[in-house]
Amino acid sequence: MLRIALVLTGFAALCSAQVELSTDPNLHILPVQGNIYMLVGAGGNIAMSVGHDGVLLVDSGTQAMADRVLKVSLDLATRVAGSPAPNNCAGMRCSGSPYGWSSPSLNARISSPARPKPIRYIINTSVDADHAGGNARLAELPKDSKILGVTFPPVGVAPSANVISHENVLNRMSAPKPGAKDQTMVDSSMWPTDTFRVAKYKLSEFFNGEGVEVLYQPNAHTDGDSFVYFRYSDVIVAGDILNPTSYPVIDTARGGTYQGLLTGLNFILDLAIPEFRAQGGTMVIPGHGRLMDSGDVAIYRNMVQIVGDRIGDLIAKGRTLDQVKAAKPTLDYDGIYGSPTAFIEATFKSLQKK
Ligand SMILES: [Zn+2]
Repeated sequence: MLRIALVLTGFAALCSAQVELSTDPNLHILPVQGNIYMLVGAGGNIAMSVGHDGVLLVDSGTQAMADRVLKVSLDLATRVAGSPAPNNCAGMRCSGSPYGWSSPSLNARISSPARPKPIRYIINTSVDADHAGGNARLAELPKDSKILGVTFPPVGVAPSANVISHENVLNRMSAPKPGAKDQTMVDSSMWPTDTFRVAKYKLSEFFNGEGVEVLYQPNAHTDGDSFVYFRYSDVIVAGDILNPTSYPVIDTARGGTYQGLLTGLNFILDLAIPEFRAQGGTMVIPGHGRLMDSGDVAIYRNMVQIVGDRIGDLIAKGRTLDQVKAAKPTLDYDGIYGSPTAFIEATFKSLQKK
């Protein structure tokens, strides 16, 4: 009984913490573990590392939500890493002061007001507009001093955030727009500033006290997907390779394949270590939907493997795409993941090529 009471108390504390962390009623902030927070409601899920080095975002949500994401991220940074609120009371009757008196001028000297640092890095998990749409707005340093009540940029901080992605994200954003002269697919203000083409890219030094790895996943959801792995907080940000709100979205027109997506899901399970019997331990933030652990990822991976095996079997028997659809290879999962049409088509196309 005591245990139940403790669990309930812990749950209530967690719930109230969630309510307090966000200053925007439509954006929700969930503390994950270590330095990492999950921001929900701005398009794709956004992961935030918040601490004394500033803010690192994995993905930037939609363009329409960027101003609001900026505000809640900096509000959170102020709470987590900012200096305490100045005491504006002077005289004998100030409450809360152990000495019974206080003065703003003295507080300014003794509290060494370290300003919270702004967004320093944005890492894009893919080229999608609901994951990279806020790049331009969030990378520029806030010039509106009202946001935090302090003047930006602080001393010793680069003039704008670095936007990091695999080079295929930049290639797709900067490709010429068909039928529009001198225009690119995505405006140059949104482009990544730093790209890589190796399997594993890492930040060259600790950020908020930990190493951050960017792990390229070839030809999965698209041809420019990356996982981001926070090595000390032990959180993997998976992007749209992992989307438990629907069947996997495999964008074959932009280089996605069934095989690459399945390899990506298996890689998460390889990297993640559960605390006990597939529960807890390494936390995984999906592109959309709720926070997951190894057990949740395994359930999703199993579905992708099973459906792919069924479709592969039908292809081996010489069935056409229409016959595969008519055989309903996803029927037992449709109640959970919804319409399977696009997933069946993409899987058929990927497996047929083999
Ligand atoms: Zn998405």
